[in-house]
Amino acid sequence: MWSGEREVRIPAKPLRVKQMSVDLNDEVNPVSDAKHRKDAMDQHWMQRALELARESSELGEVPVGAVLVRDGVELGAGKNMPISACDPSAHAEIVALRDACSNEANYRLPGTTLYVTIEPCTMCVGAIVHARVERVVFGAREPKAGAVCSQNNLFEHACMNTRVSYSEGILAEQCSQLMSEFFQLRRANKKRIKQLAGEASPASENQTKKD
Ligand code: ZN
Repeated sequence: MWSGEREVRIPAKPLRVKQMSVDLNDEVNPVSDAKHRKDAMDQHWMQRALELARESSELGEVPVGAVLVRDGVELGAGKNMPISACDPSAHAEIVALRDACSNEANYRLPGTTLYVTIEPCTMCVGAIVHARVERVVFGAREPKAGAVCSQNNLFEHACMNTRVSYSEGILAEQCSQLMSEFFQLRRANKKRIKQLAGEASPASENQTKKD
């Protein structure tokens, strides 16, 4: 169903909203300009997304985390978990959107900002647009599958009937480093497993030597 109108439903259950208001007093002077406040807010929520990404990593999943925020309040959180959830759509962004939609009892999330550690893919960009998220902030680019600016710029595509603004590069180094460490460890583990398999099976080693 297409509808340009916002559909508001009566919440079916009490809202489970985490109050995570930001105390910016330590970071910026209260009278400093709006940009500094916005930057500090972006960094605060990206730190939260990084926490979720680390939780993904502990599950053995590619470390990506996302958090959905409106007016300084966390509405939903998600960590990447397609393997553990047996769900190819369980990217951090989708999990965060589902969490927020459930909390809000609404399939639209106007006036929200989605913070995610890595540039969203095609599927997630589609879901973000459908949910009417207003702004996306991501940490590091995803050169192979990023659909915001790396492989595509889908938010600006004519087929998207809602405009979503985006910012990038917030805590990019930390977001990117988490990914690098994860893949380095995974490669090292794979190599070790191969070595162990070779030690346990001399026949296969002989076969390899013959080859
Ligand atoms: Zn995705």
